[in-house]
Amino acid sequence: MSEKQYDLVVLGGGTAGYVAAIRASQLGKKVAIVERSLLGGTCLHKGCIPTKALLKSAEVLQTVKHASTFGINVEDYDINYDKMFVRKEEIVKQMYQGVEHLMQHNHIDIYNGTGRILGTSIFSPQSGTISVEYEDGESDILPNQFVLIATGSKPYALPFLPFDHERILSSDDVLALETLPSSIGIIGGGVIGLEFASLMIDLGVEVTVIEAGPSILPTESTQIAKVLKTALTQRGVKFYENVKLAESDVKVTDSDVRLSLNNDNIVVDKVLLSVGRQPNTADIGLNNTKIKLSKSGHIETNEFQQTEDKHIYAAGDCIGKLQLAHVGSKEGIVAVEHMFDAGPIPVNYNLMPKCVYTQPEIASIGLTIEQAKKQGIKARGFKVPFKAIGKAVIDSIDSEKGYCEMVVDQLNQEIIGVNMIGPHVTELINEVSLLQFMNGSSLELGLTTHAHPSISEVLMELGLKVEDRAIHV
Ligand SMILES: Cc1cc2nc3c(=O)[nH]c(=O)nc-3n(C[C@H](O)[C@H](O)[C@H](O)COP(=O)(O)OP(=O)(O)OC[C@H]3O[C@@H](n4cnc5c(N)ncnc54)[C@H](O)[C@@H]3O)c2cc1C
Repeated sequence: MSEKQYDLVVLGGGTAGYVAAIRASQLGKKVAIVERSLLGGTCLHKGCIPTKALLKSAEVLQTVKHASTFGINVEDYDINYDKMFVRKEEIVKQMYQGVEHLMQHNHIDIYNGTGRILGTSIFSPQSGTISVEYEDGESDILPNQFVLIATGSKPYALPFLPFDHERILSSDDVLALETLPSSIGIIGGGVIGLEFASLMIDLGVEVTVIEAGPSILPTESTQIAKVLKTALTQRGVKFYENVKLAESDVKVTDSDVRLSLNNDNIVVDKVLLSVGRQPNTADIGLNNTKIKLSKSGHIETNEFQQTEDKHIYAAGDCIGKLQLAHVGSKEGIVAVEHMFDAGPIPVNYNLMPKCVYTQPEIASIGLTIEQAKKQGIKARGFKVPFKAIGKAVIDSIDSEKGYCEMVVDQLNQEIIGVNMIGPHVTELINEVSLLQFMNGSSLELGLTTHAHPSISEVLMELGLKVEDRAIHV
């Protein structure tokens, strides 16, 4: 049994947890991570990395299919899903080894077990000591000065439709499928559902997306959601919006799933439930602390990620602000820098880039024009289409559909949002992120020389457009 005293014990070694641990180690602190599964968490093993690895294969397939557009005739091609799957696994393994190496390099102790927060005892005047239980029944106690809870989240099922991991699947299950289904019904037209829709349709699976709300992708601009819906529809995805499934609408048999969708009945091989994620906050000992949970079960923190128990912090999906890997790591860093008085800068959620890795890609920062207007802001949108940008036309098969929009507050000319759909926008958005972080203006963006031809020229044009001096539009 270990009884080492730590400056910081991190509960959960996902993106929020391991990044925070490294930052604490950089500050000279003695750090431990308790992880019950694999370091790297959802993002590395069941999220960002494996999905994007498969999406890259789908993109290559689309390029091959359209090779004749570029003057190259490809007579014969085939989908080798086994190979795609193995490539995905190898990428995850390589990145995982990288995280393990980082832990050693930063002298972070890893406890591979389930952690819980203990309450006060005769040995400890305050709650927060972490107990670790191992599969073999052994345990450890980790006294500490600070705790960071970074236990992440897991997929929600519907109350009447639990995951059976055979026909009714979570995103974890879909990523583990070694063969492609013939057809899939995706319940939930949010980011995760649509990334899988884009992937599956491109790999030849019949895809139906069922969304309870009035339209898919409610977090992005209505116009952008429409452009994506049109692009996916043209590739064969069927959409049902405004369909709230009830128990009687779903019948799971041994060989398929039957869905009643308004007046249509469809039969699919598998169903992916992508209706949101619930925080892993049950059974981690929160009852031993003063920590408060929101109605959705997320841990409540202040802007420095500090909970009601001042020595316990929380970051990542378990606090549920923006369930994105880069947001979780920022929150983890802020928490650590606050604990150890190292000049934390609170996360500005309005400046966090959000990406959807569908084909076409979507990326945004800040508000859409609709959101701005709902908040009573007198906002104006300025758009530049990708068809005006040479490199976008060269590179992309359907560049004419994409565009970038800047949303500007007309009172003070501040940039309050940038929304884009089109080629490589998940890369372009980081230039906007830097501009916003540096408090830059549309004029500064427009006056920054961008190499020609490059796709990022679209941002220079956009900056100039706001100033009424665009050259190419
Ligand atoms: C399919 C999919 C695709 C995604 N794609 C993207 C993307 O492209 N970009 C992006 O930014 N985000 C993406 N996300 C979201 C991203 O994966 C999460 O926001 C991110 O992983 C959250 O990190 P975290 O550290 O908070 O939690 P997690 O990564 O979930 O890590 C939490 C860790 O805590 C461990 N744990 C939990 N309880 C305990 C306990 N009691 N004791 C010990 N260990 C415990 C878990 O095993 C886990 O490893 C995607 C998610 C999914 C599901």
